[in-house]
Amino acid sequence: MKIKTQLRLGFGFLFLVVLAFGLLSLYYINRISTSARVILKDNYESLTFVRQMRHIVDTHALPLGIKQQEDFARQLEKEKHNITERGEAEAARQLSAAFGRLTDPAGTVSGRQLALSSIRTSLGTLDRLNMEGIVRKNNEAGEMARKARLYLAFAATIAFLILFTFIINFPSFVTAPLNQLIDGIRQISRKNYDQRLSFDTRDEFAEVARSFNVMAKRLKEWESSNVAKITSDKLRIEAIIEQMNDAIIGVNEKQEILFINNVAGELLNLDKEKSAGSDAYELMQKNDLLKNIVESEGKAPLFKIFANGKESYFQLDSHEINVHAYADAGDETLQVTSRPAGKVYTLKNITQFKELDEAKTNFIATVSHELKTPISSIKMSLKLLSDERVGTLNAEQRDLLENISEDSERLLKITSELLDLSQVETGNIQLSFAPVDPKQIARYAMDAVKLTAEQKEVRLELISRQNLPKVNADIEKTAWVLVNFLSNAIRYSAEKSKVLIHIQESGAYVQFSVRDTGKGIEEQYQKRLFERYFRVPADGKNASGTGLGLAISKDFIEAQHGEVYLRSELGAGSTFGFRLPKSNAQVNS
Ligand code: ADP
Repeated sequence: MKIKTQLRLGFGFLFLVVLAFGLLSLYYINRISTSARVILKDNYESLTFVRQMRHIVDTHALPLGIKQQEDFARQLEKEKHNITERGEAEAARQLSAAFGRLTDPAGTVSGRQLALSSIRTSLGTLDRLNMEGIVRKNNEAGEMARKARLYLAFAATIAFLILFTFIINFPSFVTAPLNQLIDGIRQISRKNYDQRLSFDTRDEFAEVARSFNVMAKRLKEWESSNVAKITSDKLRIEAIIEQMNDAIIGVNEKQEILFINNVAGELLNLDKEKSAGSDAYELMQKNDLLKNIVESEGKAPLFKIFANGKESYFQLDSHEINVHAYADAGDETLQVTSRPAGKVYTLKNITQFKELDEAKTNFIATVSHELKTPISSIKMSLKLLSDERVGTLNAEQRDLLENISEDSERLLKITSELLDLSQVETGNIQLSFAPVDPKQIARYAMDAVKLTAEQKEVRLELISRQNLPKVNADIEKTAWVLVNFLSNAIRYSAEKSKVLIHIQESGAYVQFSVRDTGKGIEEQYQKRLFERYFRVPADGKNASGTGLGLAISKDFIEAQHGEVYLRSELGAGSTFGFRLPKSNAQVNS
């Protein structure tokens, strides 16, 4: 039954209960008031008539006057028309007869006396009958009022019980299904699509439950189809990851292995099926490569691993993974947040690039080596040509020879720099360490650039204290670096300026620095200055440089466990320097 109908019936029934109670009350009130009216009309009036008639006969001497007779007759007449009690008609007739005799003009005195006493008797009878009537009717009314009280109390109790039951049950009749519905909606908002509602009724709530169940079913179907799509997408992504040439390892936020692709499985020598889900830290104890990968902590080291039947190079890359998450915000809504879900490590196979790089380095090494001999023979020929014994040269020819000599000198410098670089890159750099006096290195370098400095009238000044500790270094390579710093300083300084070479002790190191008062270097270029082939753009026009000198210097110094540094200010000059570890040998005197 529909709720509307149920409500109508319920309220209709209540209305009927109230109506029945009202009608019952009305009925009894009516009955009681009717009894009162009857007493008043039937008996009380008769008593009044009787009293009036008695008053006439009691207060007047016989024979009665005309007026008294008329009054009496009038009251008598009224009484005759108000006969209500059994025996009252008979008494009225006797009264009427006695009154006739009393007022008979031919009557005697004694006859009148008898009539008067007969009148009194009849009036007494009438009095008694009506008094008895009043008592009886009063008793009847009392009985009725008692019954009315009983019935009304009974009806009121029934009505109270019905209303009470109604008041108790009606709110839950409405709220119980509503609460179920609210609960169902909350479950749905928490993605619990298996939630169903069932009401054993045929009302509107049952319809709501049916619609709710259809909605939950559809949502579940929708989610299942989404899950199917996500599953197929996942399989596709897994296939892509599987087929990649790079090794990929996924680790979740609890440090459990999520996946390992084929290449990673082969490289790490791990069974990818068994490893998935296992603890990364446990696996690391047995697998050094995995340990190095996981402990790389954001650095990107290069791994040399034997793979594909040869030495291969892999560059490590790691990414933090953040995914969307649904958080329960309060008890009703879901909030989208982002939470860390682990890390993905990729080992990119760069063997091919390494091989190409090696080929390039070897090529440079071969070419620069091969060029050295013809350049040396050119220099030899130039020397012969400039000898007077071979033949005299005119001024123009001498100039040309000088130019050729300068160019071959430059070519030789370039080729030897390229050769040095290739040696560093291939790891073929030969270092012969020995405890060396730092000042010896400085003097060696200063001698090498002396001529160039003199040409430019640049003054070289060495500042160092006596008894400096020796450094553990390859004297030639270190001097090469110092020569490079000095020739740069001279080249980028103004004529007649000063270049300072400063050697001092600094902790476990000895520090060499070359300070010029040249043009300085812009801050944006300072970081890149030690990169291969890098030159400050404005100096590009200076054709003699290769941009390799500082890069090789850095490699030479680092190969000797030292480090290079640079301080420069545009317009105020630059200081290039390096530190080398002190030797354990005794201090030089
Ligand atoms: P290059 O053979 O070109 O001199 P370097 O590696 O020695 O190669 O130097 C790289 C670049 O650094 C130079 O081209 C120059 O622009 C800049 N540079 C080096 N030393 C100085 C210096 N003392 N003052 C200003 N710039 C310098």
